[in-house]
Amino acid sequence: MIHPSVSEPLFARRALTQVCAYCGAHFRVLLTCAPEGNEPVDYFCPECGKQYDAEAALQPQVSLLRSRADGKKDRYQETMF
Ligand SMILES: [Zn+2]
Repeated sequence: MIHPSVSEPLFARRALTQVCAYCGAHFRVLLTCAPEGNEPVDYFCPECGKQYDAEAALQPQVSLLRSRADGKKDRYQETMF
């Protein structure tokens, strides 16, 4: 064998649909979780940038499903820099 087969780690993919608490956008979050060794990860609303937390093995993938509902264009401000 030229390419030895590497056993895939037992990642579990979990997709969840979320409605942003700030702007009302609907988005899908794809979390890749390992049986153990998950770490706190951040992901952000694709419309306003509000931060959310999860536990996963890899950085979550976020895709927008429906645009924000509040009709504004501002960004959520977690902290003032
Ligand atoms: Zn948002």
